[in-house]
Amino acid sequence: MTRLSRSNRFIASCCAALSLTAVSVTGLAQRRAPLPAAPPNIAYDLILQNGHVIDDKNHIDSVMDVAIKDGKIAKVADHIASSDALKTIDVKGLYVTPGLIDLHFHGYAGTGERGSYAGDNSIYPDGFTLRTGVTTVIDAGCSGWRNFEDYKQRIIDRSKTRILVMLNIVGSGMRGDKYEQNMDDMDGEATAKKALEYPGLVVGIKTAHFAGPEWKPVEQAVIAGTKANIPVMVDFGVDRPTRPLYDLLNKKLRPGDIYTHMYSGLRQEQDPVTKGPSKAFIDGRKRGIIFDLGTGGGSFKFSLAVPMVKDGFIPDSISTDLHIGSMNSATHDELNVASKMMAVGLTLQQVIAEMTSHPAREIKHEELGNLSVGSIADVAVLKLSEGQFGFTDMVNARLDGDKLLSAEITIKDGRIVYDLNGREALPWDGPADPNAAYASRWTTFAPRGPDMHGTQPSTGTPADNNRH
Ligand SMILES: [Zn+2]
Repeated sequence: MTRLSRSNRFIASCCAALSLTAVSVTGLAQRRAPLPAAPPNIAYDLILQNGHVIDDKNHIDSVMDVAIKDGKIAKVADHIASSDALKTIDVKGLYVTPGLIDLHFHGYAGTGERGSYAGDNSIYPDGFTLRTGVTTVIDAGCSGWRNFEDYKQRIIDRSKTRILVMLNIVGSGMRGDKYEQNMDDMDGEATAKKALEYPGLVVGIKTAHFAGPEWKPVEQAVIAGTKANIPVMVDFGVDRPTRPLYDLLNKKLRPGDIYTHMYSGLRQEQDPVTKGPSKAFIDGRKRGIIFDLGTGGGSFKFSLAVPMVKDGFIPDSISTDLHIGSMNSATHDELNVASKMMAVGLTLQQVIAEMTSHPAREIKHEELGNLSVGSIADVAVLKLSEGQFGFTDMVNARLDGDKLLSAEITIKDGRIVYDLNGREALPWDGPADPNAAYASRWTTFAPRGPDMHGTQPSTGTPADNNRH
């Protein structure tokens, strides 16, 4: 609570000097200005034309147009006329997919705590997500029931990225061994109670980094997950003979629970003879355990991934495990990891499914990760480059690849939040957009107003980015 009140004082003292910033930090509900009413004769806010749509849930894999209205997907069809929309963007040659979901992320930055994932080891999500097509991240256990609310007010409520959370079974969260090895702070009941206070926002329970011989972290996590009806994700910590991987995946966890760091090789994931998946993995998958990538800083080896993918044991979901230790090492970002998995042997369609419909289903958020009419309009427009690329793993081994995915445009809740090549913008020395008065219906970027170069008047409705 001390930290929370200090933070509020800081915000208050900054209000006068930075009024736009102050508005943006007071909470998600107040952050967005109301949209201008759409003209009655225009059916859509935005159309993406001529892109190659990959929507795993709806079995779409072809060139289609996608129309958006009021933050929702309004239509997906062979052709949707530009005259029906306030704004049309031609995305020929690019891929159009649901906004990507990164199932394993660490975003509890800003507390000032050193060496802690509830502090300096975490990263501010918006700097790593929207620019890679990611619109939703699932924080994998940075906070527990004791500090979740601090995380929420500090980061989750202030971010453009949709941040959903797996609560750590440790009440104090991922703050280092002093906390994470303390079995007295692993309380399934208290954790479930907090999860049930925030349904839809708390989407799972995480246990991680445990070094002891006991099953308590897993057992308490399963109690919490069962009471809150959400999955458990396991980073199985130190490999201990008293708690074999086989028992975790085939006795302790429930179908729908998630094993992350699947190709780390740290905990008997690989069969030592065949180099394919261990019997624990094979039997676990048969009974419905979910296998997540989570490459991270030290959790992915080609010596596992290549033979196991060859054997058909591919991930259910592709995730980064992004934090300060992985953001500039082998993991980089979600699309680099996806490109790496294509170099390992997955198809483009597989990696897209593993970043969209699959993780949405795993966290029971099926309104995300698809382009069904009526779904939340989170969209990624991706470029697939062909050339010579190199990908590395936790032991700094390299695998060469010939394809690299990158993000061109990212749309969240129906509005553009990232546009690498200014595809929505018009040339600076030409006329302004005739629908500039409605621009905040399709973009978060400021439209040209009368005080800038251009002829169209502004509505006075500010875009919600800060114009500093
Ligand atoms: Zn992690």
